Amino acid sequence: MPSNRKTTVQRLLAGASAAAALLAAGHAFAGTVALTGGNVVDIDGKTPILNAVVLIEDEKIAAIGPAASIEIPADAEVIALPGKWLIPGLMNMHVHLALNLPGASRVHDESRESIALRMLDNAQKSLQTGVTTIRLTGAQEGIDFTVKKMIDSGAFDGPRIHTAGTSIVPTGGHGSYEINGAAEASRAVREQIKLGATWIKLGISGGISDTHGDIAASPFTDDELRTAIEVAHRNGVQVTGHNGSPIAAEVAIDAGIDAFEHGYYLTPPVLTRMKEEGVWLVPTIVVTQPGAREFYQKIGSPDWYLDRVETAGKTHFKTLQDAIRIGTPIALGSDQYPWEPNSGTTATIREAELYVQAGMTPLEALRAGTIESARMLEVDDEVGALRPGYYADILAVDADPTKDISALRTIGFVMKGGKTIVAADDPAAN
Ligand SMILES: [Zn+2]
Repeated sequence: MPSNRKTTVQRLLAGASAAAALLAAGHAFAGTVALTGGNVVDIDGKTPILNAVVLIEDEKIAAIGPAASIEIPADAEVIALPGKWLIPGLMNMHVHLALNLPGASRVHDESRESIALRMLDNAQKSLQTGVTTIRLTGAQEGIDFTVKKMIDSGAFDGPRIHTAGTSIVPTGGHGSYEINGAAEASRAVREQIKLGATWIKLGISGGISDTHGDIAASPFTDDELRTAIEVAHRNGVQVTGHNGSPIAAEVAIDAGIDAFEHGYYLTPPVLTRMKEEGVWLVPTIVVTQPGAREFYQKIGSPDWYLDRVETAGKTHFKTLQDAIRIGTPIALGSDQYPWEPNSGTTATIREAELYVQAGMTPLEALRAGTIESARMLEVDDEVGALRPGYYADILAVDADPTKDISALRTIGFVMKGGKTIVAADDPAAN
C-alpha cells in the first residue's frame, strides 16, 4: 500500500542526516532552551537579575530577564539552576594547547599526530572547566588551525579559538619562526594570516626559559618590528609581543603593537604609556607565583628554571600591581593549560584570584576573564557577556563571584553556544 508516511528507517535516516547537518553547522540542536531559577550577574556591575530566565535559541541568547517577564515556550527544554549564579563563559587569552617547557621530556621530538591529539585533549578539558574562548599565543606546525576547524565544524567540543599561529622571532629569539630582515618579517606574517591567524605573536624579548641572551634586550630591528606590525594591521590582524623588557616595550609601542604578554619587568612609565595608547597586558601571573612550583616539579623542570621563575615572580607581581593601580587594560591569560590544576583550582581561575590579590575588585577580575578579553579580541558584541544576541556561553556557580572571586571554584554547569557541556547534575562537576 503506497503511503506518504515514511518508514521508521527513513525517519531515522532523515533524523540522522538532520543531526549530522546540525553538527556540521556547529549546532548541538535546534530549538529553545530555558535556563530557570538562576541569578544573572551583570558584567557591568549593575544589579544582578535574581530568579532569571535565560532563553536560548540555537547558539544564542534570545531573551534574558526576571522570571515574571519572560514567557517560556511550551516546547522549550527547561534546565533548572535554582539559586545558582550565571556568568559568561571564561576567556583565557594566553594558551598553548601543546605546551613544551624545559624538563617536559615526554613532549620533545614528538610527532605531529601526538601534538594534534594533545591539543584536542587540552581544548576539551579547557571547555569542561568553563573556558569557552581561548587565544593561542604560539602553536606548532600549523596544527592549531586544524584543531580550530575541527571544533568550529562541531566535530569536537572545545572552546572558541583565536590563534596567532606560530610565534615569529629574530633568529635565536623566544619562539619558533625565525626571521631576519623586514622582507622575511612580512613574509612570515603574511604566511600565518594566510593559514588563518587572527593574531600575530612576536617574540620581542627573551623568555624565562631561554638559556641564552638577555631578557632585557630588544633584538628585533626597528625595521623588522615596524614591518611585521604594519603588514598585520593592513590585514586587520592585531599583534602581541612576548615581552619581559621595558626597552623592547617602548620600541614596540612606537611601532604600533596592540598587546604584551607576561610583562615580567614592565615599569610604571611603560604601563602608563600602555594605558594611554590602549595597549593590552595579558599578565599570565600564575606562571611565576608559588602555586606554579608544583606544576614545574611535576613536569621535571630543572632547578635553574625554578630559581629563575621565583626571582622573576617578585617583579612580575609588582608589575601586575602597578598595572592595576595605573589602569592599564588587562585581559586574563594563564600560559598554563586553562584547566591545569593550580592551588586547588584551575590555572584560569587561579589567575583571576591572583588579580584580586594584586588589587582588582572581584568584578574587575571577572571582567578581565570575560568582557575585557572579548574587547581585546574585538568580539565583545558576541561573547563575554550575557545579553540577547550573544552566544550562549554560560557557566553556573554557587555564589556571586563579584563578591568573592573564589566562587569561580564552584563551576557546576557549562554551556557553549547553547550546547550543554557539563550538566548541572553531573557528578563530574565541581
Ligand atoms: Zn606563552
